[in-house]
Formats: sequence, C-alpha cells, structure tokens
Amino acid sequence: MPEDEWNLFSRKTTLHVNGNVIGQPIEANIWQMRLEDQVDYLKSIAIAGCNLDEPMPTRFVDWIYWKLGKRIADDYMIPYNKKMFGKNLNKLGTYWLEKLPNVSFEETLLSCLTKKAYGKDPGHTQFYYPKKSGYGELWLRMAEAIKDRVQYNSTVKSINFENHTVTTSGGNVYKSDFIITTIPWMEFSELSGMPDDIKDGINELEYSSIQTKYYPERLNTDSQWVYFPDLKLPYHRILVRHNFAPNSKGYWTETNCERINEKDESQYFSYTNKYAYPLNTITKPVIMKKLLTWCREHDVYGLGRWGEHSHYNSDVTVDLAMRLSEELIDR
Ligand SMILES: Cc1cc2nc3c(=O)[nH]c(=O)nc-3n(C[C@H](O)[C@H](O)[C@H](O)COP(=O)(O)OP(=O)(O)OC[C@H]3O[C@@H](n4cnc5c(N)ncnc54)[C@H](O)[C@@H]3O)c2cc1C
Repeated sequence: MPEDEWNLFSRKTTLHVNGNVIGQPIEANIWQMRLEDQVDYLKSIAIAGCNLDEPMPTRFVDWIYWKLGKRIADDYMIPYNKKMFGKNLNKLGTYWLEKLPNVSFEETLLSCLTKKAYGKDPGHTQFYYPKKSGYGELWLRMAEAIKDRVQYNSTVKSINFENHTVTTSGGNVYKSDFIITTIPWMEFSELSGMPDDIKDGINELEYSSIQTKYYPERLNTDSQWVYFPDLKLPYHRILVRHNFAPNSKGYWTETNCERINEKDESQYFSYTNKYAYPLNTITKPVIMKKLLTWCREHDVYGLGRWGEHSHYNSDVTVDLAMRLSEELIDR
C-alpha cells in the first residue's frame, strides 16, 4: 500500500491507576497524578532495589519491585500483568525488558518538578493506519498478489525432517528444499526426526489466549489505547478505534481468556485468539535457540511470532520474512 493511502498518528495511551488518569509509561507521567500520590510514588521508586545498587533479579515479578518500587508494583504493574498473563505471570523472565524505555528516578523526579514527561519515548510513538478500511486491507492485498501460491483451508499436521516433507490433516504431502513455518510449534502432532530433548522443550513453551470484544458506546477520550489494572474489571485494556480509524464506532476490550466472565451474555461480536501472546518464560531463550538452530541445520526455518515464539508485531514479522527470503534466494 503506497504511503498516501495511510494516515500517520501520534500514539496516545492512558492508564487508570489509583483514581488518576495519566499517560504511559507510568514512570514518565507520575507528574499528572494527584500531588499526594506523586510524593508516595516518588518515595517508593527512590528506595527501589535498582536505586540502592541491588542486583537485577531474573524473575519478572521480582524485577517489577526492584525497578519501580512497591507502590507502582502494587497499584499497577502486578495487577495489570496478572490480568494480562494470568497464571503464567510467575514464570516470566526479565531478558525481554531491555525493549522498555529506561526512565531513571532522576528523570521521574525532574518530570514531576517541571510538570512534563521526561526520559526516552516508549516504542511505537507514531503509527500508520489505512485512510480507508481496516488494517486487514494490507494482508488482503498481499494475499491477492500471491494467490496462485497459497492453499487455504488446509491444516499442516506434521513435518518430516528426514525426507523434508510436510503433511496436512487431509493427507496431502508436500516436499521442498526449504521449509519455512509460522505455525505455533505445539500445534504439530508429529515432528519426525527431531530429537526428544528438543520436543520436550516445545512442550515447555507457554502462550496466552485473548478475547477481543466489541461494545457500541462512544467513549469520550482522545486515547487510542486505555489500560486498566483494576482487578474488578475482567479486561486489561481497551482499544478506541474512532481515534484512528475514520468513521468507526464503539470500542474493543482485550481480556485474557482465563478471566472471561461466563455470565456476560451480551450479544456483541467477540473473537478469541487461542494463540495471542507467546510468553517470555525464564526458560524460553534456551529452548528456542536450541530448536531454531537444530531446525536450520535441517533447512527448516521457524519464522515470525509463532515460528520464533517471540512477541513480534506484524511490521517486524514482515521484515523478518523479507530478510529470510533474501538469505534463501542468495543460496
Ligand atoms: C489481540 C491482538 C492484537 C494485536 N495487535 C497488533 C497491532 O495493533 N499491531 C501489530 O502490528 N500487531 C498486532 N498484533 C500482532 C500481530 O497479529 C502479529 O505480529 C502477526 O499476526 C504475526 O504474524 P505471523 O505471520 O508471524 O503469525 P500469524 O499472523 O499468527 O500467522 C500464522 C498463520 O499460521 C496459520 N496456522 C496456524 N496453525 C496452522 C496449521 N497447523 N496449518 C496451517 N496453517 C496454520 C494461522 O492460521 C495463521 O494464519 C496483535 C495480536 C493480537 C493477538
């Protein structure tokens, strides 16, 4: 899609915490809270482990207290992440947090004194969205361009690493020089020729399932995303499409499937992604390195969000696909 078919937006996200409605990330926007809360949160960060030269923990839950202090942990980070990651929260590591903006205590303090956000911007400060239609238009156009090479409504069940074939549930067998898979690894019923210890690693990988649900009311906010750590609400965040998709109505909630309220009988449209977020568990980097290295040695390539079991957004997966295609064409 050419650039003139897109609108460019500045990302606006808000967070509801302890009765305050502030911007994201929290460390850069404490200045927007009630004055008494600013004092409490600053005091809590000042005595957090990272500001007392304590070593960085290896578990995400411990890291939250170490980095942001008890107040932000108890009021926001622990409840929000409990809602988002459910029962798996205690299994998460910290190796993926390098991507987050590192706002220091001094920067947070300065932002409260000068009453403006301070520190580095979080990722995705700007984004493009199609002027007409939804984001799916991009993928429909890609699909149209390669339609002769796509087989729809066919489920791959197995990969045979010895004779380099994939087999579908309908019994069709395909053989090729290279096999590239974007399928969640735990979906295969058979991976013939793969050593057992690598298969055991796949069984340890975790993911979360998310329900997105539509509500027709128009929300009075100019934010595109709003985050809710309040444990009384089942959803963790909402998406306000009219703030980036012209002529759209209503809003969408995002809820971890473990928290879906069965009594909610509203008839509005909802959709469940069984495979929504690949989780950054402590053991994942070792498992994936071993799996992907072994597969590459057999000319099988795990690619994308599920092939690499990494929390990539769609722009990153397209970039990775283009790089891999260049590498394979060169060979
Ligand atoms: C709720 C939610 C919101 C998101 N919001 C955004 C956003 O705002 N912006 C953004 O950039 N990204 C967003 N993402 C992430 C985005 O969806 C992913 O980055 C992107 O889809 C990853 O592309 P992929 O090709 O690697 O994997 P996928 O898109 O998951 O593609 C894998 C494909 O494999 C197919 N498949 C699975 N099993 C089999 C099988 N056995 N046989 C054959 N085919 C199979 C699946 O049907 C799927 O089509 C969001 C994701 C979720 C869940």
